[in-house]
Amino acid sequence: MTPFNPSIFRQQFPALTQGGIYLDSAATALKPLAVIEATKQCYCDDTATVHRSQHRAAQDLTARFEQARSLVAALINAPSADDIIWTRGTTDAINLVAQSYARPRLLPGDEILVSEAEHHANLIPWLMVAEQTGAQVVKLPIGTNRLPELARLPSLLNDKTRLLALGQMSNVTGGCPDLAQAITLAHSAGARVMIDGAQGIVHCPADVQQLDIDFYAFSGHKLYGPTGIGALYGKSELLAQMPPWQGGGKMLTQASFGGFTPQKPPHCFEAGTPNIAGVLGLAAALNWLDDQDWSAAERYSRALADQAEQWLAQLPGFRSFRCSGSSLLAFDIAGIHHSDIVTLLAVHGIALRNGQHCAQPMMAALGVSGTLRASFAPYNSPQDVDALVSALINTIDLLAN
Ligand code: PMP
Repeated sequence: MTPFNPSIFRQQFPALTQGGIYLDSAATALKPLAVIEATKQCYCDDTATVHRSQHRAAQDLTARFEQARSLVAALINAPSADDIIWTRGTTDAINLVAQSYARPRLLPGDEILVSEAEHHANLIPWLMVAEQTGAQVVKLPIGTNRLPELARLPSLLNDKTRLLALGQMSNVTGGCPDLAQAITLAHSAGARVMIDGAQGIVHCPADVQQLDIDFYAFSGHKLYGPTGIGALYGKSELLAQMPPWQGGGKMLTQASFGGFTPQKPPHCFEAGTPNIAGVLGLAAALNWLDDQDWSAAERYSRALADQAEQWLAQLPGFRSFRCSGSSLLAFDIAGIHHSDIVTLLAVHGIALRNGQHCAQPMMAALGVSGTLRASFAPYNSPQDVDALVSALINTIDLLAN
């Protein structure tokens, strides 16, 4: 394992040589050279497809494509690589569960419990499937600590609840609900759980067996891998009962005009030519992560967020929405619109996100039209925090006068 040294760590990210300060890693992480090289190699040296042609390059690529599946399984302690389905990302994975698991099962009046803190990726697929089936989406509200109020689960779960949809970590507050408690309660009411791991996996990949998770989704691009690739874990007994969601090449064993026979999971859920470079890039990201002292890197990025919050708290009108211990800092400045601030920060070369963060119900619960969000990663530095603070002081001066 390479010991964590912030300045050496930074050197692995070519994007940082362009100048500017990147504080938007919760939207998508910068890519280390190892991932860029693996993706490039896939297009320069390894042109072939997988699970189709018999020539050597195709066979070799197929083996590496399947090894990558095993790496994902190991990351989240899935019992088998066959429980891992390649998807375009978290959104695609949750839609797969909504359409392939939930849609055939839901009856009018059934309930899907969704936390108010969810990203739209873990809300809209449930609203869509509810409309298709006559089921209801029920809200699990957030409490004063901005976390889903798990104490309300016993009264919200009932014999009509089929599924609980919950995020491992909020992309707004960085808050992490107690998954073990939520899953135990959901299971005791006979409901399945869909965990959105898009943010959480970056900080602490869930152990799907220990937590007894039914479905877990994540995206490669937040985990230092390429965009357009992600994975869904599903318990094998659930995947085995689910019909394919999309049809096409290689998801079947026989086809005629009379019908088709689907392959076994995971292949029955992977119709068409997959994102091979994405899979190999994600594998490179996982191998690279494996070599980093991730707990030291995590402590470092959280400390940067602590430092930024402490400095910014001295600015007039500053209000933080951060759950403590997170490397995400969502905040606003009273009387100044977040989009004006972010536009002026961009002039200072500082990239951070503003708006509703694809979490409009969460914004409504917080009583804001949107927030700013600085998200810190191990490639950020104390100088980035200083630059953010002084640029914000300038910006507030300019806008408030
Ligand atoms: N859930 C959360 C908590 C997220 O932060 C995101 C990405 N912003 C998603 C889901 C959706 O991920 P993707 O767009 O990669 O599918």
